[in-house]
Amino acid sequence: MKHQDLLDNLINPVPGAILKKYPAGNIFQYWADNPALYSQAFGHTDDLHRYLGGHSGIDISGKHRTPIVAAHDGHVDEMKTDRTSLGGIVVWLQSPMLELDTKVSCVTTAYAHLDEAAVKKGSTVKQGDLIGYMGNTGMIVSGGNAYWGNAPAGVGTHLHFGINEFILTSTGAWVPRFINQMGNTTDPLSYLTKGKELGGLAVILRNMLTYLGLPKFRST
Ligand SMILES: [Zn+2]
Repeated sequence: MKHQDLLDNLINPVPGAILKKYPAGNIFQYWADNPALYSQAFGHTDDLHRYLGGHSGIDISGKHRTPIVAAHDGHVDEMKTDRTSLGGIVVWLQSPMLELDTKVSCVTTAYAHLDEAAVKKGSTVKQGDLIGYMGNTGMIVSGGNAYWGNAPAGVGTHLHFGINEFILTSTGAWVPRFINQMGNTTDPLSYLTKGKELGGLAVILRNMLTYLGLPKFRST
């Protein structure tokens, strides 16, 4: 499979969530939206310095224990239950090997702050399979307060969803496709919403471009 095709066919990991910014939708923070919020929530001396560059994904809010599904086919590459990564219960899903120009690549997606995981390390999953349930086991910023795994019940419950892209080097090492201060991640929002939640004039424009055979309309 081509690398770009996997990205273009990602599905919303929180079925039913509206991928618009809160209060119009369920997204209350996203990649590069407000890095300062996360930078200020913690000091420079703790082990959370990795967040100082900014936010490495999008936060999709929902009810406690909302089902979370796999955005793509893959296998569970890694799981964490401690506080040294994205926080709380985290599942990382790695895609099959992909083609990126002449190189071998892969995409991983992160599902963080879960209340409970429904998969194990090494599990093979198909797109849309249950990954776990939404929780607040990780870092939560709610009402101007930052909590780390100790948010009061129901406060700030959300899924942190992130995308990383990797390229296999000739020495057999995986290296990030992009280097940035967001943990070398890719902004997920455009891939989850591209062409899927367009309205009115945008749909007409897209259809015209498709009809004329011109390059796809991109929201980025
Ligand atoms: Zn987040």
